[in-house]
Amino acid sequence: MTALLLRNCDAIVTSASDPVLHGQDILCDNGAITAIGPDLDRDIPAGTDIISGAGLFIYPGLVNTHHHFFQCFVRNRAELDWTRYSVIEWLDRIYPVFSRLTEECFYHSSIVAMAELIKHGCTTAFDHQYCFPKHAGSRIIDRQFEAAELMGMRFHAGRGGNTLPRSEGSTIPDAMLETTDAFIADCARVIEAYHDPDPLAMRQVAVAPCQPVNCYRETFVESVALARDKGVILHSHVGEGESPVIAQVHGMRTVDYCESLGFAGPDTFYAHGWELTHDELRKMAASGTGVSHCSEPVYLVGAEVTDIPAMDALGVRLGLGCDGAASNDNSNLMHCVHSSYMLQCLAARTRDDPVPAPAAFLSYATEGGASLLGRTDIGALQPGRAADLFAIDTRKLDYVGTRHDPISLIAKVGIGAAVDLTVINGRIVWRNGAFPHLDEGALFAAAEDTLHTILPKTGGL
Ligand SMILES: [Zn+2]
Repeated sequence: MTALLLRNCDAIVTSASDPVLHGQDILCDNGAITAIGPDLDRDIPAGTDIISGAGLFIYPGLVNTHHHFFQCFVRNRAELDWTRYSVIEWLDRIYPVFSRLTEECFYHSSIVAMAELIKHGCTTAFDHQYCFPKHAGSRIIDRQFEAAELMGMRFHAGRGGNTLPRSEGSTIPDAMLETTDAFIADCARVIEAYHDPDPLAMRQVAVAPCQPVNCYRETFVESVALARDKGVILHSHVGEGESPVIAQVHGMRTVDYCESLGFAGPDTFYAHGWELTHDELRKMAASGTGVSHCSEPVYLVGAEVTDIPAMDALGVRLGLGCDGAASNDNSNLMHCVHSSYMLQCLAARTRDDPVPAPAAFLSYATEGGASLLGRTDIGALQPGRAADLFAIDTRKLDYVGTRHDPISLIAKVGIGAAVDLTVINGRIVWRNGAFPHLDEGALFAAAEDTLHTILPKTGGL
């Protein structure tokens, strides 16, 4: 791989909590950052690709910790807009569409989601893939890894699944259920095939049953056993609307239920956590259980605003996520950094609390996300860590008056346009409005053609 030197950068934000560097260089080689400092061009490998850092602000690549890539194929459809229906009505409408998805749909929707993430500075993506229509076959996760390879994305596959039928209280149609044995066996297969525990890994796997209310108890018990045996992360939806079914069947709330099964700890993170009590947050902080905060569904669903400052003050590990396009409609984590900051400002003002610092939200989207995924080699720019970064060229009218505080810029001002450069594992995957190794027009056409095998171009469902 060709070494890369970003030379004499206007600003380098190595992390949200460290001093900003000005007029310095970053050297990347063999997937990692090898040096940060002044005048590095005096000693670089032959053939190094040198990019001028004039006007560039450099940041650690964003880490997306919750998404459902396949939902990119159901965006912007009024007839599926969950703000118009009760949850049950919405599920009745959207699951028949999900159940049509084919293996090709999962491949192309993954490309669509990853492309948008990369354009907006995301370099590591976790996808919670819980949709396994029987006719789509057994290679859905494999095709997602194939898509990640094509895009050059650092990819964490959350192998999801649902096992409990509607007749026993879940919300999942029978056509999309698996047995616990089949789910665990496929988790073990994809861990064996793809999970790389080494530093700079481009592929990792998490065991991620969809949510407690849609699975048998044994599914969670066996997920814990498998993940601990293989040393991989556990993930699920928790606190996305407390289910009365959990209380009826198990006699406790969901956080306690998960803790009772061992589905908690420093290797575990939950998506959402909207409706958790202070006591539950304290337990999660004590066990090391993290939360992927997805701000955009909070706007749309109108549920309680997640109390992020309280979680942070208690020591709950926090990352940010886009969530699926059925509850967001975009895959733009950069936008989520801004929207989550704005949402928390509103909530703080409503409570008469001090507003949170913008830097915290950049931290959640970088080092926080890395922590949730169990990684110390991403999330900040340091020699030895992965060469995952994005750059914005601030010599534009958009940035006049904002350039004095590069750390706050991302959350407080927001970056509306695509970034100017995204580097993953030392490789340029997006630069000046194009994917240098890909034909975006051809990928667009293939994705559109595949989408229209399951949904008409115009009209209803
Ligand atoms: Zn979700």
